[in-house]
Amino acid sequence: MILFDTHCHLTDPAFAEDAAGVYERARAAGVEGIAVCGYDAASNEAALAFAEGREGVYPTAGYHPHEAGTVTPGMLADLNALAALPAVAAVGELGLDFFRDHSTPADQRRVLDAQLEIALRHGKPVSFHSRAAEDAAEEHLAPFARLMAERWPGRVPGVMHCFQGTVDQARRYVALGFLVSIACPITYPRNDENRAMARELPAESLVIETDSPYLPPQKLRGTRNEPANVKAAAAAIAEARGFPSRT
Ligand SMILES: [Zn+2]
Ligand SMILES: [Zn+2]
Repeated sequence: MILFDTHCHLTDPAFAEDAAGVYERARAAGVEGIAVCGYDAASNEAALAFAEGREGVYPTAGYHPHEAGTVTPGMLADLNALAALPAVAAVGELGLDFFRDHSTPADQRRVLDAQLEIALRHGKPVSFHSRAAEDAAEEHLAPFARLMAERWPGRVPGVMHCFQGTVDQARRYVALGFLVSIACPITYPRNDENRAMARELPAESLVIETDSPYLPPQKLRGTRNEPANVKAAAAAIAEARGFPSRT
């Protein structure tokens, strides 16, 4: 089985001691691709450095909505330069988070639009975080997806990372061309919405991720998550769609 972890944070301090070993473990587990997502100035640079010389590592660069209040024009210029690099696979992690409210909604929307503009300029997909903000996110992403299709025909506008909205919301993003990413919380007993999404969305619109070090699968709750565990999300999707389990 070939696996791809479309969103994780191997540059997080939780991996400071053993990121190289965690990468090797993922490769040994059949995880052939790992998107290492930046979320602030330091992690953007670190993701790029981590990818250097490692096969199958795809760095991304962006500013998480929690950071929105701290993002300056200079930081956006830095991001623009990173997004121009062929090695940088996507712009993000970016998005809207009205659940935690570490930054004001106005700051979040402003910094999101600036980053969407950068993604459009370079034809890069976005890795999108939305929490308690799925409808607001659509206000930004619908025009973005239309412009992307116009300027960069055939390119995927982005991935809705660890999507926790409703099946109907997910369908609307799929209609805009987005991929919907399912993470290990699909294995949590109460997460019927994720299992419905896995069952009802077209298979070609689904991708998987771990969001490591966060969100370990049910069997490993309370521990640090890592990309090798992405197979738990894949297995849960297969089960939801009625395929026999191979794990
Ligand atoms: Zn996120
Ligand atoms: Zn993340």
